[in-house]
Amino acid sequence: MGKIIAVANQKGGVGKTTTAVNLGACLAAQNHQVLLVDSDPQGNATSGVGIEKGDVEQCIYDVLTEDVEPRQVVYPTGVENLHILPATIQLAGAEIELVSTISREVRLKRALDTVKEHYDYIVIDCPPSLGLLTINALTAADSVLIPVQCEYYALEGLSQLLNTVRLVQKHLNKALKIEGVLLTMLDARTNLGLQVTEEVKKYFRDKVYQTIIPRNVRLSEAPSHGAPIILYDHKSRGAEVYMELAKEVIYNGKRIGERN
Ligand code: ADP
Ligand code: MG
Repeated sequence: MGKIIAVANQKGGVGKTTTAVNLGACLAAQNHQVLLVDSDPQGNATSGVGIEKGDVEQCIYDVLTEDVEPRQVVYPTGVENLHILPATIQLAGAEIELVSTISREVRLKRALDTVKEHYDYIVIDCPPSLGLLTINALTAADSVLIPVQCEYYALEGLSQLLNTVRLVQKHLNKALKIEGVLLTMLDARTNLGLQVTEEVKKYFRDKVYQTIIPRNVRLSEAPSHGAPIILYDHKSRGAEVYMELAKEVIYNGKRIGERN
């Protein structure tokens, strides 16, 4: 059965999409069947794996609101073993439309339950908010991976996120775990980056990944080529570190006795 990891942080620009796309691609490159789920109306994960949004007839919006089965909306990508459930701007309406529907928080969970057995990992890219789309992702997930950008105020807002995680654990998904906290966009030349790293480690201790994602120009260029970093430049530092992160995720899963 696939393990479902939600990549979440209500702050924008912290590296959620970059992490979801590249962790997904690197898990796939290590011979795992992976489904990337784009749950952000901006659809950056969708275009980031080379899907033209104009070519997408049905997207995750239809799955959440119309009871369309996800397997009808899954597309292959340029990376072997990596599929995507895409998002288009249509998804922006879902946040409001879902408010008045039955079982609005468990729509994604129910949908992913129907495809879970075909994948080793399902990685969900969340929008930059703690609204219904993120709640759906946290309700569907086995664990949440939190990217934290190495900058001033890195920890700001995290208590709100952790509070939401606790509420979801209490009311919707008892089994939800913290997968790990990922430091992103580290500029090792500055003291600031190193200070933030220490601060985040003090707070989250062993939940912080040993892999730290540095600032890497190739990582920021890859999306405009519609390719995960391992396709765009597999020799770059960005490709190396996301491969390391994938190994750490796999290793941590084995350590706690998951079957993946
Ligand atoms: P989010 O999904 O949290 O909003 P993104 O993953 O889209 O964040 O990242 C925000 C911006 O920073 C994007 O333009 C992305 O290409 C860039 N970026 C992300 N990670 C890195 C990195 N490690 N090095 C350089 N640029 C990065
Ligand atoms: Mg994003």
